[in-house]
Amino acid sequence: MLAARDYQDIEDKVLRGERLTREDGVRLFHCTDLAWLGALADHVRRVTCGDIVYYNVNCHVNLTNICTSHCAFCAFGRDADAKGAYAMTEQDAISLVEDAMRDPNLAGLHVVSGLHPTWTFEDYVSRLEAIHRRFPTLYIKGFTGVEITHFAKISGLSVRAVLMELKERGGLQAIAGGGAEILSDRVRGALCPEKATADEWLLVARTAHGLGIKSNASMLYGHIETLEERVDHLIRLRDLQDETGGFQTFICFPFLPKHTKLGEKVKQTSMWDDLRTMAISRLMLDNFRNIKAYWVMLTVPVAQVALGFGANDIDGTVHKETILHDAGAASPVALAEDQIIRIIREAGRRPAACDCNFNILRIVDEGARHGQH
Ligand code: SF4
Repeated sequence: MLAARDYQDIEDKVLRGERLTREDGVRLFHCTDLAWLGALADHVRRVTCGDIVYYNVNCHVNLTNICTSHCAFCAFGRDADAKGAYAMTEQDAISLVEDAMRDPNLAGLHVVSGLHPTWTFEDYVSRLEAIHRRFPTLYIKGFTGVEITHFAKISGLSVRAVLMELKERGGLQAIAGGGAEILSDRVRGALCPEKATADEWLLVARTAHGLGIKSNASMLYGHIETLEERVDHLIRLRDLQDETGGFQTFICFPFLPKHTKLGEKVKQTSMWDDLRTMAISRLMLDNFRNIKAYWVMLTVPVAQVALGFGANDIDGTVHKETILHDAGAASPVALAEDQIIRIIREAGRRPAACDCNFNILRIVDEGARHGQH
């Protein structure tokens, strides 16, 4: 590999399997040789997890978009009397999943919602329980560290007790990665002071991992954070992963400004920034096996290219995405499984359908589905 000028020492470290420092991470964000950065991240991806790219055949369930937290970067959450506000009944949620079940390969659900001002914890659990009872074979990944912190506050239960209840009654098998945003008190104080702090988000992950519940991690970037804060965020996740080993995948979320309070002041990230952030995440998070290229936020073409920049996970079919489309996501609201398979194969990789804990359900062999893709 031909190291970019001034970056030979970092390349040598990576090739030796040595951990990168905060200073290395910040330097990488100033590197303009994107092709080199991508090749280095791709090398690490190949050594870490081979050629398989994971995807889910899944359905997103957002129980309500009514939310007490008025995060400046969010176009989904709203007050109860705002246009488009909704709160699903148990039956509404079941009907949504029934519709998604028309796909015989549907394997699981991704359940995240707003922090409803009058719903109790029981309101959330009972909806999850109803879904789980009706569809016991579907895996359920659900709720972010922000939601779980909220449930503990409104119920008076500990985070541990909330997690146990969701697991035992609701069939929760893994926790969603959202809500981490940037793990910095400065950024959270400016953008989302009404919800879980950085320490509270990390506490949920640590507690879940201690209970044997795996979780995902994420970073929402491209708003008011500095490049140093991005690196510090990655290091906080890496430190917790050293401690627990419970994170399954890391997701880069570029900020989508449309219809958000912050959108008037901040421009959308460039493809350049998205790809370098993907690559640097792979390089800094040396103890994460999986890095996700979330096509909903990145767009399908960028997510496909990101498979060559360190990613080995491309999320799922989704069924009908709403949270990010409220913020103007330019991607489709869903992808057919065949489309996902084609995207992965065109990148020269092997598609594998998995559950929310990255157990492989089937590896799609060349030519096995609908001829060649
Ligand atoms: S990001 Fe989550 S917590 Fe914040 S306003 Fe949106 S739905 Fe509510």
